[in-house]
Amino acid sequence: MKFDIAVIGGGPAGIAAAITAQSKGRKVVLFEAHGFSPRLRSVAEVNDYLGLRPMSGTELMDHFVAHLSRTDVFVVEEKVVSLKEVGNGFIIGTPSGNFDVDAVVLCTGVSRSNLLVGEKEFMGRGVSYSAKVDGVKYKGKRVAAIATTDDAMDEIELLADYCEHVYLFPRYSGFRPPKRKNITIVIEPPTEITGTDRVTGLHTDTDFFGVQAVFMFRATDPLNSFLPQLQIRGRSVYVDDQAQTNVEGVFAGGDCTGQPWQCNRAAGQGQKAALSAIRYLAKRDEEIDY
Ligand SMILES: Cc1cc2nc3c(=O)[nH]c(=O)nc-3n(C[C@H](O)[C@H](O)[C@H](O)COP(=O)(O)OP(=O)(O)OC[C@H]3O[C@@H](n4cnc5c(N)ncnc54)[C@H](O)[C@@H]3O)c2cc1C
Repeated sequence: MKFDIAVIGGGPAGIAAAITAQSKGRKVVLFEAHGFSPRLRSVAEVNDYLGLRPMSGTELMDHFVAHLSRTDVFVVEEKVVSLKEVGNGFIIGTPSGNFDVDAVVLCTGVSRSNLLVGEKEFMGRGVSYSAKVDGVKYKGKRVAAIATTDDAMDEIELLADYCEHVYLFPRYSGFRPPKRKNITIVIEPPTEITGTDRVTGLHTDTDFFGVQAVFMFRATDPLNSFLPQLQIRGRSVYVDDQAQTNVEGVFAGGDCTGQPWQCNRAAGQGQKAALSAIRYLAKRDEEIDY
């Protein structure tokens, strides 16, 4: 499917970006992986959102989602697992398929995780973020799965269906081991992914696991996990004063661009990023010699 602008993330920033871009006549798709801002939904009371009475984060988020549903923004409730620059635009991958877009607005929120050593080097060459997308490629092979969230269990079961063996590294508390003979639980933390032209193994401090793929299932992914060339500063995506990242055609807004982590700021920044994306597309369209 083809869209002018893709917004990745359906928190206050992403919803503001999508509504703004759509209101300016652009064809917009918004991707949301975890039920529209688990972060804001966890807040007991928000009493500083401009013009609104105090309410729970869930109620505030429901207002934003209701606003979104009154527009023609196309919503895909799936995780973006890949973003590739192709020609003048991008191809966005989710477990159910690919989407062609001309510009991207990143509104993925705060990330608390870092890339594992070797992860960036082997992205697309054995490192994967989706069993639904890539699991079938490893039929009958040995793979590793690193999970920081219980949400990943369905994907891990799917891997166990496809693969000869899955080494599962659960990295969260409250983990309940799956009852599958071809899943081995490894408690020691993974330290490095290694390989030659493709992944050949995963290390811990004291052990080595020979695998052909490493699947990463995180609650929040590192900001550059699906776009390795994205410039990161500390824990934030680098943007200039027009919300443009270092990658042409990719803009960002909200908590992913840094503090203060606030809904008013996130919504305003999402809107600014969308307007910059619209200006970018308008300028690009003018320059095309028909
Ligand atoms: C305890 C706590 C209290 C807070 N109190 C307040 C307060 O009183 N007032 C206030 O204004 N703010 C408060 N905040 C901050 C507020 O929640 C954030 O500033 C706001 O949610 C940021 O919006 P955002 O859209 O930038 O990011 P988020 O709301 O985090 O949304 C990002 C979205 O992107 C999605 N996403 C990420 N990666 C992908 C992917 N690869 N594919 C698809 N979707 C993806 C996530 O699922 C998420 O829904 C509080 C936060 C916390 C944790």
